[in-house]
Amino acid sequence: STADYQRADAAHHLHPFTDYKSLKAEGSRVMVRGEGVWLWDFDGKKYLDGMAGLWCSQIGHGRREIADAVHRQMCELEFYNTFFKTTHPGAVELAEQLAMMTPEGLNHVFFTGSGSEANDTVYRLVRHYWALMGRPEKKVIIGRRLGYHGSTVAASAMGGMGGMHTQGGMLPDVHHIEPPYWFDLGGDMSKEEFGKKAAIWLAEAIAEIGEENVAAFIAEPIQGAGGVIIPPDTYWPEVKKILAGKDILFVADEVISGFGRTGEWFASDHYGLKPDLMPIAKGLSSGYLPIGGVMVSDKVADVVAEGGEFFHGFTYSAHPASCAAALANLKIMREERVVERVKEDIGPYLQERWRALGEHPLVGEARMLGLVGALELVPAKPGRSERFANTGEVGTLCRDISFGNGLIMRAVRDGMIIAPPLVISHDEVDQLVALARKTLDDTLAELRR
Ligand code: PLP
Repeated sequence: STADYQRADAAHHLHPFTDYKSLKAEGSRVMVRGEGVWLWDFDGKKYLDGMAGLWCSQIGHGRREIADAVHRQMCELEFYNTFFKTTHPGAVELAEQLAMMTPEGLNHVFFTGSGSEANDTVYRLVRHYWALMGRPEKKVIIGRRLGYHGSTVAASAMGGMGGMHTQGGMLPDVHHIEPPYWFDLGGDMSKEEFGKKAAIWLAEAIAEIGEENVAAFIAEPIQGAGGVIIPPDTYWPEVKKILAGKDILFVADEVISGFGRTGEWFASDHYGLKPDLMPIAKGLSSGYLPIGGVMVSDKVADVVAEGGEFFHGFTYSAHPASCAAALANLKIMREERVVERVKEDIGPYLQERWRALGEHPLVGEARMLGLVGALELVPAKPGRSERFANTGEVGTLCRDISFGNGLIMRAVRDGMIIAPPLVISHDEVDQLVALARKTLDDTLAELRR
């Protein structure tokens, strides 16, 4: 029974990002099946997966073609490594496809098992690059508050989640600037003005630290786990101007924003960014098997290639079964024009209905790009004039009510976020929006009780 699973789970399973006290008190949710945008728990309750697993299930759950491709690979060669000059056909084919489909100049990939490993790889590659360039003093990496780059040591240090720094410590030579979070920090400024101001925080940090000491700036084009912070349109053009001509590597973390999430293959395409390094994961295999990587520009790869051996790698770098899953996933995405559909059809369809939720008395802002969006919950309209304490109490309440209503949304502080599978249908969008609206109504009623 569900209760049996919950008891054993609470006794033996330390979950990631889970409040253990509440898990013990309430028990875990036991998921057993998925198909398209739908999930079922052990008791047969059906949920609309508004978070695409964990921002990764671009093609939806339960696609037989992926299982078949992985099965074929498992029967042929279940595992071999890519250390010491060894490769396999799946790794070669995937590397070649990634070089072709990612933004110009990113022609090399270092494979990892996850996004966190990709970002720890970034940290080491950046330092290795500057050492090889004869500039070992260039060590400081600038990240942003509320940025999320993963849970490994360097990834969590470059990320800007205060709680993670407190638990487990920080690395030296990492500096954080404020994010382009208009709803939270914009004050009386227009979005356009604020976007420029937020970019200037980067210029100020570089000036303060000294360009000669700055190795890289790392940022998610849209901050995902930090609350789907979609920067004002003026932000990235201004950041590009600030970085132009400077000896600072630019790292665009596309672990969430890649593989069609914003309506382009990569958010860097949407914003016209030309990263030197680009971590990827999640949507690369739609989560069917773990795989990630760092896309590396010719500029960096040429220097690293001259440097001899890079003492870095993972047993499961380019795992054959994961490569097979990724190749089958990309084939489906191309054949079904998944990304084009997000841009031209289903993206605009959901965005219009999502933004209409902004009229709800509990919502201060409803924003969305492609198929990733957020609702800022507020105690009183209009807009941002009053805020909850941002302790996450209201967000958690709303999330739990949403689960009860059969819609999986995630809470970030006192806001809700959504990133459904990219293959969601028009009818399923209507159901998602209706469930979100009901959840807001139920949450408001609960708060007024
Ligand atoms: N980078 C970003 C932008 C992410 O959102 C995440 C995970 O959510 C990661 C990196 C870490 O990826 P993983 O959980 O696969 O280690």
